[in-house]
Amino acid sequence: MTTEKVKVLIIGSGPAGYTAAIYAARAGLKPVLYTGGQPGGQLTITGEVENFPGYPKGIDGPQMMMDLQAQAERFETQVRHGLVTKVDFSGYPHKAIVDDTHTIEAEAVIVATGASAKYLGLPSELKFTNHGVSACAVCDGFFYRGMHVAVVGAGDSAAEEATYLSKLCPKVYLIVRRDEMRASKIMQERVKKNPNIEILWNTETEEILGKEDVEGARVINRKTGERREIAIKGFFVAIGHQPNTGIFKGQLDMDETGYIIVKPGSTRTNIEGVFAVGDAADHVYRQAVTAAGTGCMGALDAERFLAAREAEHSMA
Ligand code: NDP
Repeated sequence: MTTEKVKVLIIGSGPAGYTAAIYAARAGLKPVLYTGGQPGGQLTITGEVENFPGYPKGIDGPQMMMDLQAQAERFETQVRHGLVTKVDFSGYPHKAIVDDTHTIEAEAVIVATGASAKYLGLPSELKFTNHGVSACAVCDGFFYRGMHVAVVGAGDSAAEEATYLSKLCPKVYLIVRRDEMRASKIMQERVKKNPNIEILWNTETEEILGKEDVEGARVINRKTGERREIAIKGFFVAIGHQPNTGIFKGQLDMDETGYIIVKPGSTRTNIEGVFAVGDAADHVYRQAVTAAGTGCMGALDAERFLAAREAEHSMA
């Protein structure tokens, strides 16, 4: 086991992590960023990103992440491939173990590990990723305007995604596995009253159909046993997200799903010198631009924390 001391450690390489790196590096903090198991994060499994300000013609998700990496490296961020497998925030400096072989001692840590959308687990879901299957209506809905689509799920996300899509698409099937929805009353009412949304109750998806791109789905009504095929071009999975925060359990305060709790209006966690940014601490907005925004906040919070510590030490 080798040990290395760094000023700022950034864990995660989505828009939040890279933005934190750009700001921390430009403040002279020489950040070290570990990419994690999915370098570039969720945007690397998206197609075109059209809603990130500054790209009037849109940009390919993976390209955007390579650009963000290059921008972080331009200011001397060390971007390293590796997975932080364990952390110890009980003392100071904070410790993180990378790939079970290397210990980093960091004066400040910025957690930007993101979240992963949950999927149904059908092989056809994987086959049609970026070819009609999506986990984000706000990101991809525009590509399906004028077409028929389906949303799976019955929580607030599914209700919100179906409502969003109903403004673009003449027909939105909402596939609900039980005979009731979990979404808040107001969101449910909105969905039920919407003439463009048809709710398929007690229904599960057996298969997503198509050749290159999604053309339909075979669904089954679990009460009647009746199977039917619906013709759709887009299949949106909205059954929840899982924040990638398992390694911080027991050390950072989290809600019951595992989203890290930060002090309102900041990125500060319950541990001094540890900051949480991006989707790992945000179950509400979950957009690349909001992740980037909190990444910037995380770097500024870390910089101020380190400056205050230094001032304290020089007075002592
Ligand atoms: P939830 O966990 O609330 O809901 C997930 C939904 O997906 C449930 O209805 C569940 O069904 C369904 N589901 C889970 N697995 C499957 C499966 N394999 N097949 C079919 N259906 C499945 O997640 P959300 O993302 O909707 O919401 C997460 C949190 O974020 C909530 O607290 C929510 O209130 C909040 N939120 C708030 C919004 C707002 O206020 N504007 C917008 C979006 C989210 P079942 O009910 O049968 O278990």
